[in-house]
Amino acid sequence: MALAFDEYGRPFIILKEQEQKSRLRGLDAHKANISAGRAVARILRTSLGPKGMDKMLQSPDGDVIITNDGATILEQMDVDNQIGKLMVELSRSQDYEIGDGTTGVVVMAGALLEQAEKLLERGIHPIRVAEGYEMASRIAVDHLERISHKFDFSDADIEPLVQTCMTTLSSKMVTRCKRTLAEIAVKAVLAVADLERKDVNLDLIKVEGKVGGKLEDTELVYGIVVDKDMSHPQMPKRIEDAKIAILTCPFEPPKPKTKHKVDIDTVEKFQTLRQQEQKYFDDMVQQCKDAGATLVICQWGFDDEANHLLMHRNLPAVRWVGGVELELIAIATGGRIVPRFQELTPEKLGRAGLVREKSFGTTKDRMLYIEQCANSRAVTIFIRGGNKMMIEETKRSIHDALCVARNLIRNNSIVYGGGSAEISCSIAIEAAADRHPGVEQYAIRAFADALDSIPLALSENSGLQPIDTLAEVKSQQIKENNPYYGIDCNDVGTNNMQEQNVFETLIGKQQQIMLATQVVKMILKIDDVITPADY
Ligand code: ADP
Repeated sequence: MALAFDEYGRPFIILKEQEQKSRLRGLDAHKANISAGRAVARILRTSLGPKGMDKMLQSPDGDVIITNDGATILEQMDVDNQIGKLMVELSRSQDYEIGDGTTGVVVMAGALLEQAEKLLERGIHPIRVAEGYEMASRIAVDHLERISHKFDFSDADIEPLVQTCMTTLSSKMVTRCKRTLAEIAVKAVLAVADLERKDVNLDLIKVEGKVGGKLEDTELVYGIVVDKDMSHPQMPKRIEDAKIAILTCPFEPPKPKTKHKVDIDTVEKFQTLRQQEQKYFDDMVQQCKDAGATLVICQWGFDDEANHLLMHRNLPAVRWVGGVELELIAIATGGRIVPRFQELTPEKLGRAGLVREKSFGTTKDRMLYIEQCANSRAVTIFIRGGNKMMIEETKRSIHDALCVARNLIRNNSIVYGGGSAEISCSIAIEAAADRHPGVEQYAIRAFADALDSIPLALSENSGLQPIDTLAEVKSQQIKENNPYYGIDCNDVGTNNMQEQNVFETLIGKQQQIMLATQVVKMILKIDDVITPADY
């Protein structure tokens, strides 16, 4: 720091750039990064598996979230360490691509970092560790492919899909109703799936929730549920064979775009204006009627005058429907979104077998069900539950189950869960390490040890003796040459995951291993950390 004076004699301080920054280099940098990454992983470790704990997070504005979903925990945690942010990003990418396994991927990365630290302390160069990890991850991905199973499913036999979704849900708060929810998720995905192209557009599945009722009351509606009601209480609550005009224009007289002044100084003038206004409304309603509409769904509101007229002319209407919902309604009913009344024609109307308004509990809450749609591709999962937190967590869990079902339609290979796939990979990698002459073999072996951390965490979280349990299962796998043995978290009595029906998707597991390796490699390659000093 130096004090200097400008040409007017005013003092100012010159800061050297270096002085503003702190810097970590070499092994110190590696160690600091590794411990930051491990700290994040440690938080998620206790949430893994069917007996994993939930986390309660409070947002700055006081909202409380209770969740078991790794991606959500990290998202809400507001991590501000750079390496911690990489872990958040890791979990997010698993969520984007696969949708499930967001906790596992972070736990895996944490374990890889822990092992790497030991190797660095023994003097192995980080690049050699990174290379060894890369080799090991490739062996693991190939091995997973080898131990995976393909299964067949059809519209009639959805059981395998349901079982896999149930495994996902078994570690969530909604595990009590996992069968019901898994069936709902699979049916929803199959309703919108294109089995020939092996593709699913999850945008067509809308997940809605309303506080009240039981979790068991959650239902799948083959159509759209909109959180709106008829604009007038005396409009019919049930319309069969509805022809729907979907409008983005408001029911109101046109407004001048610039400032205008209307002088109304006589009664006649006022009446003329009123009549004109009424004629506008009348024409609009008439245009809808002429096109043959029996229901109007409008993106905008309309004033009492229009509302009254609509009721009188027997044209039920719904107002203030959001853009996304409007689009979904249009897709489902095969209608067109119409921006001007003049453009309404019978072909542009959407069609639905039944539109009904349903009320809930003792409150004035009502929702609109649009069912038996002409093009019934869009569906809605309508969640009920005791409180808002439960509904939000159910939404997240259903999202995971939907993603799993979608992944299975894309690729119907599964591996067994409960840590069995990880143990099997660990054994395979251990064997492969012996065949590597270079220093990398230490890293490859370390990778195998890191894989063990998943079954270890599962047994720890289930209250079992982790080391004993792992050793027992591992020797069982080797002795019987059977990759299905895992951790019996729920104390069912057998640790054969095939018998327990604990499945996971192959692509999800492969992605977990690849993503975790990628991030750890990236962290290992950082040997200089420059941060602002007051950070
Ligand atoms: P993630 O967010 O990574 O999906 P979860 O908390 O859902 O994490 O835990 C998933 C892990 O729990 C997987 O390794 C899975 O195999 C295991 N698991 C799920 N259900 C069971 C079960 N019934 N028995 C043993 N392990 C299970």
